[in-house]
Order: sequence, then structure tokens, then C-alpha cells
Amino acid sequence: MRKLIEGIVDFRNRILPNCRDTFAELAKGQNPDVLFITCSDSRVAPNWFASTNPGELFVIRNVGNLVPPASSVPSVNESDVSALAAVEFSVLKLNVAHIVVCGHSECGAMKALAFPTDLETTPHLKSWLHYGEPSLDKINRGISLDKKLSRENQLSQINVLQQIEHLKSYPFIQEQLDQSKIEIHGWWFDIAKADVHSFNKKTNRFELIE
Ligand SMILES: [Zn+2]
Repeated sequence: MRKLIEGIVDFRNRILPNCRDTFAELAKGQNPDVLFITCSDSRVAPNWFASTNPGELFVIRNVGNLVPPASSVPSVNESDVSALAAVEFSVLKLNVAHIVVCGHSECGAMKALAFPTDLETTPHLKSWLHYGEPSLDKINRGISLDKKLSRENQLSQINVLQQIEHLKSYPFIQEQLDQSKIEIHGWWFDIAKADVHSFNKKTNRFELIE
């Protein structure tokens, strides 16, 4: 916590004097180009690895970068509608042009899914991970984009594509896609190398963005 407070003081002293105008302008409204859906994992820092500034990314972060599919509505757990509200707001009100679903290596959520351990003490986590089960089904059926990866990393790559399917299950998203108003991208962040990969439909693989 001390590091956080010192960071704020350092920001005020060192950085803020040079960007007061930027924030005064941002206060008038936001116009982000991208809805970025990623994991809550502390090691995944999209503003940092994609060199973006305040106002450029509208971000949804949750455990496992999951999106409840349309088929789960209206029975969707009430606490889970937050992700859907943010998708609706950014797509229909802020008119983002791109949605990025970004998974990552060594994801604790994928590990919990791939190697089901005792989740009895974390009932909400157990319930939330339900939205990743279709990804696990695929892995269990031998579907993989790169069999050289560990089981949880294979799962996290498949899960990116699965969550994109969940997004596409909403008629308002499908409509935006049909009218070419949005594009959806699958990304995967390799923590050890700090490499970002993008899914290429033609090769059916995640490929390094360089
Ligand atoms: Zn994660």
C-alpha cells in the first residue's frame, strides 16, 4: 500500500505537471477506440504493453477474461451482468471500433479450470469459472492451437476464442459485425517473454505481434 501512495505522490510531482491539459480535455468526455477485455491478473498490464494513454482503452477486467454467453441470460447470475453492461455501454454508447479479448499465459483461472482443485472455499469463483467450461470441454476433446504449450496455456488460448464466440452470441454484437462497425480480435500475452500474440484465422494460431 505504501508503494501505491508513494506512486501517487511521484505521479503528482513528476508527471502531472506535463499532462494537466490532457486530463482537462479528457474530463469533457471519453472516446476510446477499443474495448479491451482481459484478466484481473496483476501481471497483465495492457496500458503498459500496448503503450496506450488514458482515454484510449475501455477496459473490462475479470478473473479469466470471461464473457457470459447470451444463452446464460436471463438466468445469468446477477453479479455477472457487470461484464455485459460494460460491453453494451462501450459498443452501443461509446461506439468503439474494436474489441480485443486478451488472455495470458500462467493464468490462475485457467489453472483452476484445467486442474479442478478444491474450490469449495471460493464459491463465487467456482460459479464464475462456469463460463470457461466450454473451453475446457474443447481441450478435453483434444482441440488445441499449440500442443507444445502447457495444458493451462493451451486452455487459455482456446478460451480467448471461446469468449469471442460468447460475445458474438449477442444479437447487438452480431449486428455491429454485419455492418462492419466493429472488429473482434483475439490476443494472448506471454508473461515470461512479455510478448503479445494475435490470433490469425488463416493459420489458426496465435502469432507474435512485432
Ligand atoms: Zn488470468
